[in-house]
Amino acid sequence: MTTPLMQVTDLGMTFAARRRGPGIKAVDGLDFEVRAGETLGLVGESGCGKSTTGRMLVRLLDPTAGQVHFRGQDISTLSQRQLRPLRSKLQIIFQDPFASLNPRQTVRQIISAPLRAQGAGKAEIQREVRELVGLVGLTAEHLDRYPHQFSGGQAQRIGIARALATRPELVVADEPVSALDVSIQAQIVGLLERLQRELGVAYVFIAHDLAVVKHISHRVAVMYLGRIVEIGAKERVYAEPAHPYTKALLSAVPLPDPAAERARERIVLLGDPPSPANPPSGCTFHPRCPKAQEICRSEPPLLQLTTGPGERQVACHFPQA
Ligand code: SF4
Repeated sequence: MTTPLMQVTDLGMTFAARRRGPGIKAVDGLDFEVRAGETLGLVGESGCGKSTTGRMLVRLLDPTAGQVHFRGQDISTLSQRQLRPLRSKLQIIFQDPFASLNPRQTVRQIISAPLRAQGAGKAEIQREVRELVGLVGLTAEHLDRYPHQFSGGQAQRIGIARALATRPELVVADEPVSALDVSIQAQIVGLLERLQRELGVAYVFIAHDLAVVKHISHRVAVMYLGRIVEIGAKERVYAEPAHPYTKALLSAVPLPDPAAERARERIVLLGDPPSPANPPSGCTFHPRCPKAQEICRSEPPLLQLTTGPGERQVACHFPQA
């Protein structure tokens, strides 16, 4: 078995409470890996801890528990100085392209900044910047314009070019299409897929909706209240979801086949997700779970391998498939 590009072990983030009392566990005991050149879709409702997780993977946030090994090295405890040589290998694309681009810089300045930080020479920067704008479907004419002169989709292409400037091995894409029109979303997802094929970069693609990550992901992890409840090969998770929460999320995804779409049964979950400041006992999904039984109120289920073809783990006392 080959060593994964990134290995995440018992990763956690507890934010300090505003008043005295226990902290708020936004992320609790995550174990997963990211393989070279793959896309891992990370999905869940807002507030489930997926963006916090993404930021810890690239050390924009320091974990309060666990480890993140990148190419065998634990990056979770490195100082900022020790991290510097790894920064070029780990990048992030943000949800709101305009908020993440400096409005006072031209596209040329934005894309060349990470290259300059790496110590690249003028000629190399010029060559790379021209290649990068071409890769993301912009032209040399765009280089001297400012972010506000672009549409949302074009601005996200600039964000992607900046993230890829240093030829990273892993990019966290944090809801990169959710601020964009539906027609543009498919273009950006298609662009990310093409760049993965050409550059071999791995993505952790964060989304709140299983429909968005279906096409691009090789594997999918579903998060609920700071924990992974199901993770596995895309084909397996979409065809036979085993966790009741995954089932409910999938039941909201429209189907392309008109007959299947007519027969689609929506599973509507009760209530809103509970606050991580006051999580339910046992399985934290139990107050909303249509399959909950007595044991679910007291015993937290462990993430365990399921039987059958294709890899998949699920955290449920009564997996469905
Ligand atoms: Fe539902 Fe129980 Fe499974 Fe939790 S452990 S998802 S409450 S059936």
